[in-house]
Amino acid sequence: MSAILESYAAGGWFRAADDGEPLLDAATGEEVARISSRGLDVAAMVRHARDTGGPALRSLTFHERAALLKALAKHLSERKEELHALSVRTGATSRDTMIDVDGGIGTLFSYASKGVRELPNDTVVLDGGLERLGRGGTFVGQHLYTSRPGVAVQINAFNFPVWGMLEKLAPAFLAGLPSIVKPASQTAYLTELAVRQIIESGILPEGVLQLVAGGAGGLLDELTVQDSVAFTGSAHTAGILRRHLNVLDGGVLLGVEADSLNCSILGPDVRPDDPEFDLFVKGVVTEMTVKAGQKCTAIRRVLVPETMAGQVIEALAARLAKVTVGDPRNPDVRMGPLAGLGQRDEVRKGVEALRASAEVVYGVPGSSLLDGDPERGAFMTPLVLRGRSGATEPHDVEPFGPVSTVLTYDGVEEAVALAARGRGSLVASVVTHDPQVARSVVLGLAPWHGRVLVLDRDDAKESTGHGSPLPVLVHGGPGRAGGGEELGGVRGVLHHMQRTAVQASPDQLTAITGRWTTGAARADSGVHPFRKSLAELRVGDTIGSAPRTVSLADIEHFAEFTGDTFYAHTDAAAAARNPLFGGIVAHGYLVVSLAAGLFVDPAPGPVLANFGVDGLRFLTPVKAGDAIDVTLTVKQITPRSGADYGEVRWDAVVTNQDGQAVATYDVLTLVAKTWPATPAQEA
Ligand code: NAP
Repeated sequence: MSAILESYAAGGWFRAADDGEPLLDAATGEEVARISSRGLDVAAMVRHARDTGGPALRSLTFHERAALLKALAKHLSERKEELHALSVRTGATSRDTMIDVDGGIGTLFSYASKGVRELPNDTVVLDGGLERLGRGGTFVGQHLYTSRPGVAVQINAFNFPVWGMLEKLAPAFLAGLPSIVKPASQTAYLTELAVRQIIESGILPEGVLQLVAGGAGGLLDELTVQDSVAFTGSAHTAGILRRHLNVLDGGVLLGVEADSLNCSILGPDVRPDDPEFDLFVKGVVTEMTVKAGQKCTAIRRVLVPETMAGQVIEALAARLAKVTVGDPRNPDVRMGPLAGLGQRDEVRKGVEALRASAEVVYGVPGSSLLDGDPERGAFMTPLVLRGRSGATEPHDVEPFGPVSTVLTYDGVEEAVALAARGRGSLVASVVTHDPQVARSVVLGLAPWHGRVLVLDRDDAKESTGHGSPLPVLVHGGPGRAGGGEELGGVRGVLHHMQRTAVQASPDQLTAITGRWTTGAARADSGVHPFRKSLAELRVGDTIGSAPRTVSLADIEHFAEFTGDTFYAHTDAAAAARNPLFGGIVAHGYLVVSLAAGLFVDPAPGPVLANFGVDGLRFLTPVKAGDAIDVTLTVKQITPRSGADYGEVRWDAVVTNQDGQAVATYDVLTLVAKTWPATPAQEA
């Protein structure tokens, strides 16, 4: 008997006392491992996550968490050959394995990078700007995100045992939530290996990642208000989880990524000799055959104009005929088996159901294989059906395998209406070179889909394809697809966090958020803040400049020097007729440039560079003779991990002689952590 898979629970590896159920190689039917979670103390796992993993994770800033994700991604990259070797037993070809293993690792890298670039080096995220709630500016509101002191339970489908785990783990980890991962039993041996590699690395704080190998048991019974469940799998299981008492009444958040009848639409503008025709056919065949069609994003419905159906079916058949099916160990095989015989039975049942309103136009169940035993391996050759007019089953039945149904439409409106009959899907694609078709179809599809791909000759070369969820884009769909949303860059992190509206005085808000808030006290220590290193600077440190009078000569000089001779700066008569200015005004950029001249401390010092300006607004025109001054205040200090400098965001307010705000913006600078510079900085 092969080894029984172990769970990683409460700081140690747990082995069930019974013999468990066998897990079989998808192609050969040989036993790969056995699985059981009998006797697993899921309550202890939840406690361990809450009491050990969560606090350790939340003591780290987003940047520190991101650095761990990056280290983890590197660690797994160095060991991916081991994962690749085992992946073949799930029925995956090397192309399928790349999507699962390398795609999962890529997702970690992507989140590591997003975490540093788009989240603060802090544990709180501000959402949106300050809301002034009273006339005097002493009562303000700010939305902020904080980490929940709970547990993220992640239940995954069998088709992506590595990517499925990592794409859920990475955002939850950045959000400060410890994860309990429960892979689908069928392919859990691959997830178990990845978790072993992660645990052995020692990179993640203990308690941040635990694994349930086998049934979930009473895991959901242990969850409460601050906990969440992210589920990927069938609509049937999603229904069971939705009815769990802790979800219904106990405040446990449930996110669902369920089955989905995705479609691809051939635009009415496309002719057989257009490049878009080939792109369309190629896309459908790829989605039918990658992972043997066991992808939640695969194209199940192929929507084409009535007049094109024959040509499309012919072209699909020609391409599919070249797809070799068999044991993925054979390098000449392009499509491996389904994950198991049980799955194949399910797909065959699905095809039978489809036949009520569609007929098979390509493919014969059980036709010849390149190699492999059709009795022991879960092989299935691709099938194309053509739906009859008014067909209903293709919009209801999801055969989770290499099966697609061609359906015809008459006009863009009908194409959109047919797509919507899937009752909400993860992804749709439209292949068209006509911008009007693209607009009508995309705006029609968008409310029904989480992602829409518009494919044509211009983006095809770089396109990542219909079926690939990307870490930076939202994955999930409305309605039948589950209504959940994952990934999408930082959006996926914020889903796990609590948004709270905080109402307070500017000083209190500054203390709470660690970021200076308009209206809060400023501190002028007499030392120019540009002379202070990151270690010495404090939020609220400020410098107020002397005034400078802007002359007509300044404006004329700036116009000539820069070439910006817009009439409002150069032509008094025309400027007088301008309804906003009523006369010559200074260039906005002149005002900003003069302001820099007013606040800059010129000598070499800890401020190393200005790397941008955010939120620049010109509020009041500046005319010749006006005197402007500027107040610069430290708003936010973000040390960069691994660098000897950090970012300082300064609040800048330029005012005129009447105290009116002329311009407001944030100045972004890089400031040395210590000063005088270390030898490395000087080099
Ligand atoms: P499934 O049978 O629903 O199983 C999904 C997961 O739920 C497995 O880990 C399973 O564990 C677990 N599970 C089953 N019953 C449970 C219960 N009562 N309590 C807690 N967990 C339970 O789906 P599947 O057959 O693995 O996957 C195929 C389906 O997933 C297809 O319909 C496909 O469309 C969908 N899918 C969707 C997405 C997406 O992102 N939207 C991605 C991939 C797949 P066991 O394996 O141990 O039973």
